[in-house]
Amino acid sequence: MRYQTLLMRWALPALLLMAGLAGCSTNPATGQRQLNWISTAREKSLGAEAAPKFVEQYGGDIPSASIQKYVSDIGHRLAAVSERSDLEWEFHAVDSAVINAFALPGGKVFVTRGLMEELKSEAQLAGVLGHEVGHVTAQHIGQQMTRAIIITGIGVGIGVAGQQSDDDWLTVLGVGTSVGGGLYMLSYGRNQETQSDELGVRYMTRLGYNPIGQVQVMKVLKRASGGGGAGPEFLATHPYPDTRIKHLNMIIKDQYPDYKDPQKYRIYRDRYKRTVLNELKRLPSPAHDPANQPAD
Ligand SMILES: [Zn+2]
Repeated sequence: MRYQTLLMRWALPALLLMAGLAGCSTNPATGQRQLNWISTAREKSLGAEAAPKFVEQYGGDIPSASIQKYVSDIGHRLAAVSERSDLEWEFHAVDSAVINAFALPGGKVFVTRGLMEELKSEAQLAGVLGHEVGHVTAQHIGQQMTRAIIITGIGVGIGVAGQQSDDDWLTVLGVGTSVGGGLYMLSYGRNQETQSDELGVRYMTRLGYNPIGQVQVMKVLKRASGGGGAGPEFLATHPYPDTRIKHLNMIIKDQYPDYKDPQKYRIYRDRYKRTVLNELKRLPSPAHDPANQPAD
């Protein structure tokens, strides 16, 4: 405790100062200065190593080639109109009943079956995927991991920004070898969520999806969390639904005043129902469902 106080008061600011000199860069999507120790090459290697482990933890890919292709196509089109189209993007629909979506460094994006079942249109799915693409392009994961690695003290002994090993970073992501088990969920700050919402809207509208889909996703999540018990995981990692709905409505009114024009912005409700919802009903129950697992 005392050590931690000392660390927070003196060592951490000193380290941050050093890091600030060594690891500060300008973000391609937001234009903001950021503290990020993860290079693009490292992002790619970490994402490639961690992605299969995340897929496994979430029940594997949904066993439907048509759903995987659908999600992957929409995801790749969103990534292609983003500021970091050159990453090794991958989009997975994972066979988990939990309601969630998340992204790893290097452009590996995951959406769960639980969340897909709650959605009603392709525009909404594009909103979810666009938001996660936004976390990647804005390099939020690298920034959060940099912060986590400073706070947990991994590499503090070395004290040189950017000298952490792959294992150090994978430990922060919860798939490392030096600390046992458990999924470490990186959580984002309110500003990062708002930023990803805006970026999601930017990318989805470039493809002609109606940005109102993004607002509807927030409402779906808010409703899904209202039924008592534990809320969906997406809200634990993506909080503040009311603030975000308000902010999104403001952005849409301001930047996309013609969003109601059906010639310009599309929803694709039928295509989503046909390709995803009907197909999911034909499949066996999700492979990963924490509600069905016996208590310890
Ligand atoms: Zn988010």
